[in-house]
Amino acid sequence: MTVVPDSSHLDVDLAVIGAGLAGTGLAASLRQRGFDGTILLLEAGRGPGGRAASRRRRDDSLWRLDHGAPCFSFSQPPQGLLAELWNPLMEKGIVQPDRGLVVGLSAAGSIVDPPDHPLLQGPRFRGVPTMASVPEALLKAAGSKTQGAFGERISSLRREDGWWCLSGQRRARSLVVTGNLLAHPRSLAMLGWRDVPLRSAVPLHVDPCFDAALEQISEMRASVRWNLMLELPRCSDHLPRQIWLTPEAQAKFGIERIVLHRQQDHRLGLVVHGLDDGSPITPASQPGLLVEQESRQRKALTELLLPWPELAQSLALARCLGVMRWGASQPLDAPLANSLQWCESSAVGFCGDWIAGPGFGMAEGALQSAVDLATELI
Ligand SMILES: Cc1cc2nc3c(=O)[nH]c(=O)nc-3n(C[C@H](O)[C@H](O)[C@H](O)COP(=O)(O)OP(=O)(O)OC[C@H]3O[C@@H](n4cnc5c(N)ncnc54)[C@H](O)[C@@H]3O)c2cc1C
Repeated sequence: MTVVPDSSHLDVDLAVIGAGLAGTGLAASLRQRGFDGTILLLEAGRGPGGRAASRRRRDDSLWRLDHGAPCFSFSQPPQGLLAELWNPLMEKGIVQPDRGLVVGLSAAGSIVDPPDHPLLQGPRFRGVPTMASVPEALLKAAGSKTQGAFGERISSLRREDGWWCLSGQRRARSLVVTGNLLAHPRSLAMLGWRDVPLRSAVPLHVDPCFDAALEQISEMRASVRWNLMLELPRCSDHLPRQIWLTPEAQAKFGIERIVLHRQQDHRLGLVVHGLDDGSPITPASQPGLLVEQESRQRKALTELLLPWPELAQSLALARCLGVMRWGASQPLDAPLANSLQWCESSAVGFCGDWIAGPGFGMAEGALQSAVDLATELI
């Protein structure tokens, strides 16, 4: 769905690229603090959510699958301004503590304790009824002066007379980027772009803060996840929510974890979180890589699900719903320093789970960086 602002709203105070947790969290946090300007969220996906989106199906109105993040992980209970954003969602029941069972699986196929991973160390929450409910609620909390334009991938940016010029003659006084592809050279190979859009918009040496931010971003490495999605028939209620492979098992199978998502009618969604094997991703290579991932992961599942005979047997009846490539911006390396989150003279800001902080690489980081940036912008 694309919501195109009418001609009277072609100029906005703030454009935010990306309607994941960071983009929607930023808009909601700004409103909480009295920001009265117009906000336009531009999002490549079909709706809000980003990596915390939920997959729906046209042929099956009941189906909802958390096909990216299965929960919101925090290093500690939300505090301060982050709690002010999060607690109303808790009070409305849109987020609830995630009590789903998490188990580990060894390379030898035994059920063991889950590995010691930052995503599992602190409190975890789930969106109700699905993960996407949270970014949807944040977008709603951002009020009527916030508009979303979905299904729009921004691939070029221009800065002119103090305005950020976006596609379709839209302009914004300030710009916030929540993913880092628009600033990172990997977009050239991966998406076939001719230049790094943010770099060409503001020439070198015009804004030292902006130059420093782009330099740090260009040094970040990124990883992808190949998530295979399956529909399984009705299964009993006594299954884990997440099956995390131990580091040895991850190396053996190229899989991080398996997530089970019970549907309203007791069918089961199963998502395999496949790890990056470093194959170069280009528009030409991607279709072949998706096919390879599906066949590799389905084969691995026959071995990995053996400790759960009910699941292993239902694999023969599984319907494949495709493979999703996730998270080119999933950070592995050094995060962006907080001091570079807002570049005043170019009126551009950054937020997302790739900004420095204890929640780096997880939901907490996306939301905390949004709240921090909102403080700068107010
Ligand atoms: C497979 C997987 C499992 C995960 N598991 C967990 C977990 O267990 N716990 C946890 O806390 N976190 C987990 N995460 C991480 C969590 O999903 C992220 O930290 C969080 O969703 C990041 O939110 P964000 O808004 O920073 O980024 P994103 O969700 O990536 O949002 C950025 C948005 O920007 C859009 N965008 C980017 N470039 C453009 C462009 N040029 N034009 C238009 N739109 C653009 C993208 O489409 C995207 O919607 C997981 C992530 C993945 C991929």
